Amino acid sequence: MIESRPELSKLSDYVPGKSIEEIRERFGLAKIVKLASNENPMGASPKAVEAIHGIADSLHLYPRGDAPNLIGALSNFYSVKKSQIVVGNGSDEIIDMVGKAFIRSGDNCVAITPTFSVYKFTTLSNGADFIGVGEGDGKTSLDDLLAKVNSKTRVVFICSPNNPTGVYYTAAELENFLSKVSSSTLVFLDQAYAEFATAEDYPQMFNFLEKYPNLLINRTFSKIYGLAGIRVGYAIAGEEVIKALWKIKPPFDINQAAQVAAIAALGDREHVERTLKMNREGLEYLKNEISAMGFKVLETQGNFICVHIGEKAKDMVAFLEQRGMIIRGLSSFGLPEHVRITMGRPEENQFLVKLMKEWVG
Ligand SMILES: *Cc1c(COP(=O)(O)O)cnc(C)c1O
Repeated sequence: MIESRPELSKLSDYVPGKSIEEIRERFGLAKIVKLASNENPMGASPKAVEAIHGIADSLHLYPRGDAPNLIGALSNFYSVKKSQIVVGNGSDEIIDMVGKAFIRSGDNCVAITPTFSVYKFTTLSNGADFIGVGEGDGKTSLDDLLAKVNSKTRVVFICSPNNPTGVYYTAAELENFLSKVSSSTLVFLDQAYAEFATAEDYPQMFNFLEKYPNLLINRTFSKIYGLAGIRVGYAIAGEEVIKALWKIKPPFDINQAAQVAAIAALGDREHVERTLKMNREGLEYLKNEISAMGFKVLETQGNFICVHIGEKAKDMVAFLEQRGMIIRGLSSFGLPEHVRITMGRPEENQFLVKLMKEWVG
């Protein structure tokens, strides 16, 4: 018998949003809308698609493992040094690399919860303890988070805007935390949705990198840039942290298509603006419609809303699925009475509202 590492027994499977194919097969529906995984309903940037066509002749060649053009583009875009950037096969791989580079057996990692499940997965798979701080759909104070940090804490995960609640932290809150936490604890600030944030006091945080070499800013091409299927994420941090991540990084994890698509998407301001406009309009519409049905819609800075449905949340999710609308129930996040809905195109949002009204009635 081949024994796997004991850490594996603690891991539970990742629960993704249901796929369109899955629902089509199960219910035999022609029209299916997925508002479950915070993907961009406009699709990828057309410039990214064009860039991918352009590499068809070189698919037999290995990609450049150091992704120099992409690193260069990101360096220009954010005005940070190239040596402050590492790219990954999705930011999921950035989290994985952080685990391999920094988390030891017997350590612990602390995160605000409920949140994105990959932090816990990475922590446990590296033999450390996971400490979640906060429950329910409110905002966990970073002072409460700090109170759980001890000498064994290797990484603190802060997701802002938080998936799935949409909660965010201000510069003052984050700086207060950074100034108090030990400089030997990595502060992993996950900004997967930063580009969607509209609050005036939502901070980009790049100006804190110099002062806090233990701060890591995580970003992705999966959300606003619409490239979830091709897998590119990146981290911006101090040079020491970045050096360690490059060391552990698999050499060819960012494929050719991903590299050219990401560069093109980063330069496609029009696509980003279109996406932001649709997101703003979708939020406004869904917030009004869903609140009018009597449900609590949480404030959000992302491309999704978290809604308190109540005890029958699961029933509603199933009702919608049977009719071709996939949203995300949040039981696996520890919020069994809530759902998370990604902003769709106007007609998709209207379809959701129509079905929700049917369910309520
Ligand atoms: C979607 C998401 C990511 C993952 O992004 P990939 O780059 O697709 O791996 C990371 N963090 C949070 C909070 C997310 O919601």
